Order: sequence, then C-alpha cells, then structure tokens
Amino acid sequence: MRYHNITKDDMNNGDGLRVVLWVAGCSHCCKECQNPMTWDPNGGLPFDEAAKKEIFDQLDKSYISGITFSGGDPLHSANRDGVLALAKEIREKYPDKTIWLYTGYCWKDIYEEEIVNYLDVVVDGEFKIEEKDNTLMWKGSKNQKVIDVKRTLGSPDILTPILHCGDYSKRY
Ligand code: SF4
Repeated sequence: MRYHNITKDDMNNGDGLRVVLWVAGCSHCCKECQNPMTWDPNGGLPFDEAAKKEIFDQLDKSYISGITFSGGDPLHSANRDGVLALAKEIREKYPDKTIWLYTGYCWKDIYEEEIVNYLDVVVDGEFKIEEKDNTLMWKGSKNQKVIDVKRTLGSPDILTPILHCGDYSKRY
C-alpha cells in the first residue's frame, strides 16, 4: 500500500476531529474528481512503520475521534490488504475510536468484504458531478451514501443501507 498524506485534526471527513490516511490508487475516474493525482497506485510513498506510528500517535490523543481512510480509493486492489490489516489493528488497539472509509464502490459491491466488519461508517459511490451538492455533509454528490455499517449489518435487509445520522440538523 502507498499513500499521499496523513492529515491531522481533520473536521471534514467524518465526525469529530480525525486523523485521515489518503491512500494512492483509484480506478473509478470520476469526472471532475478533486484528487486525480491520487489515481496512480504507484504514486506517493510506501506506507511504512513510521507512517503507522504517525497515525497511532494521533489516535493516542483522547480528543481524536478516530481514523478515516480516503484517497484514492482504500478499496482499490492495491490497498485492500493493507487497509484491512491496519483497520484490524486499530480496532483492537483503539476499541473506542471510530473508523470511517470513503470508497467509489457501492455498498452492494462491498458489503461481503472482510474489511466491512471493522468499519463504523462507509461513504460509498463514485462522485457524480451532475449530482454535486455542496450542502451535503460528508459527501460530494447526492448519489453517495453515508452508511451506518454496524446497524446495516445487523438489519434483516443487509442490501439496503441504514444511513448514519450523527447530527440530525445536518443533511446526509
Ligand atoms: S472515487 Fe474518489 S478519488 Fe476515485 S476518481 Fe472518484 S472522486 Fe476521485
């Protein structure tokens, strides 16, 4: 797995203040993607022990709500194993922190992946410029969904995502 950046005290990619890992590699090619430089899976830097420590140092802080995996696409084939291993380790070491993941894949295509069991929220779907709406929380276009993973996995209709509603004054 390779990555471009680790951002800290991030308020724009999930609830609370978060550490965000921006991985390299995405094959969705959404029109007017804001991060086309992240599409190349060979771009950026190798994700090494120093990068992992940088993330854990953030998660050690009580005011950090959790980690968000973004990119690029954390579920690109170049990233799936690395993100799964990291999510497992974070879930074990920091059981009270939340794990969010942004992906261009839709819920119906990923809900059986092992990684889903370690996530609290998935923001799914490609960015569609025709459905862009700047007033939406945590997502760029109306087709995307901010999914409460645990509630969805526990529901009888697993293919119909239950949306995350952390703040009812906001639009998801
Ligand atoms: S999924 Fe995200 S990173 Fe990939 S092309 Fe679409 S908007 Fe860009």
